[in-house]
Amino acid sequence: MDHEATAAADARRRIARTDVLLADPRLAEAAARLGRGVVKAAVVAAQRRARAGEIPPDAVAAAAVAALPATASGLRPVLNATGVLLHTNLGRAPLSDAARDAVAVASGATDVELDLETGRRARRGRSVLAALLERVPQAEAAHVVNNGAAALVLAATALAGNREIVIGRGEMVEIGDGFRIPELLAATGARLREVGTTNRTTPDDYAAAVGEDTGFILKVHPSNFRITGFTRGADVAELAGLGVPVVADIGSGLLAHEPLLPDEPDAASMLKAGAHLVTASGDKLLGGPQCGLVLGHGDLVRRLARHPLARALRVDKMTLAALEATVRGPRTPTEEALHADAAARLAQAERLAGRLRDRGLDAAAVPSEAAVGGGGAPGVVLPSAAVSVPDGYAARLRQGTPAVMGRVEDGRCLLDLRAVPPDRDADIAEAVRLAAS
Ligand SMILES: *Cc1c(COP(=O)(O)O)cnc(C)c1O
Repeated sequence: MDHEATAAADARRRIARTDVLLADPRLAEAAARLGRGVVKAAVVAAQRRARAGEIPPDAVAAAAVAALPATASGLRPVLNATGVLLHTNLGRAPLSDAARDAVAVASGATDVELDLETGRRARRGRSVLAALLERVPQAEAAHVVNNGAAALVLAATALAGNREIVIGRGEMVEIGDGFRIPELLAATGARLREVGTTNRTTPDDYAAAVGEDTGFILKVHPSNFRITGFTRGADVAELAGLGVPVVADIGSGLLAHEPLLPDEPDAASMLKAGAHLVTASGDKLLGGPQCGLVLGHGDLVRRLARHPLARALRVDKMTLAALEATVRGPRTPTEEALHADAAARLAQAERLAGRLRDRGLDAAAVPSEAAVGGGGAPGVVLPSAAVSVPDGYAARLRQGTPAVMGRVEDGRCLLDLRAVPPDRDADIAEAVRLAAS
């Protein structure tokens, strides 16, 4: 054995054993907090690095401590600097502080189905349902399920099992990741009765299709694409009098009209126009947790809520808590980002870029265009501002702590500030500094 190989073998022998390392007070404390498996994985990875000669044998414990995750979950926080407000891959809407606090409180034992006054069983989620009805007085009743797709499945099963759902051909939408609303509906056993054409569908098309076998008419908001040109659609108001329920899938979850997004349908307006039921997602423009909302006529909502399938689609106590805090609470981060002032964001980008240039880094403030994303407001451009840094930083920013997700455009990495809370400037600056080093 030559001298180098002997030294390497010697170093390997000096790497402490796993059980010895796990007895290190810092790692023992972490094991109590995060679980032994999580800590052991960090220890084994650090030993491997020492064996490969990347770190000295006596640095294994410190390396394991440094590599410990913040929580026992593999999910890591990400600063969304993509300029896409509702980024599906980043979990759509970030929760408000009010909603996070509510989740933390509800995560223990909680009175979700108990009346503490009488000591008797109470209606699950009664306070969030009340909150929804306060915000949407046009609805007689509300029900919450696991997501927007679940709301549609429940409506199709409870109101159109083995019967027909009348739907316009221009509204046969793919939501994303290969999931298609027509296929989802067909999977429930309901039959689709397609009417009209891709670009033009009239109220008469619907009227001609409605009959004995109709469960309901479904209006689906084309939330992630636009058809323009020679087009005609039928409004909810034009269909409400055909003698069958009209279900409006609005997607985005806006409870009331949002002037910044004039073409985006909302629950209150749809019900006012005569829709019998509205279905929507909780984690799009509503800015809450993943869930599906059903709002509308009391008898129809009750049919859905009492259907056996409802039990399989019900949400947990933490979702109920987050949803109520979203509905009752202050502006959500999504609303803040939507209403952000572009000029203020540009000033913020200039301050940030200036700070980075002061450290000798290649950074510039540039105007940028943000989007709602996540199946909402297609084609709407939200003026924004970004900090432009070399595109080589993108991967290191993604893998930093916290992870920062920007977008690469024309050979630069743009950190768009529209969806970044203003109080996270220092984190962005620090992340860029680390990515550059
Ligand atoms: C997003 C969307 C859905 C699906 O909602 P999920 O909460 O993702 O299940 C259904 N319909 C429309 C119109 C949508 O935009």
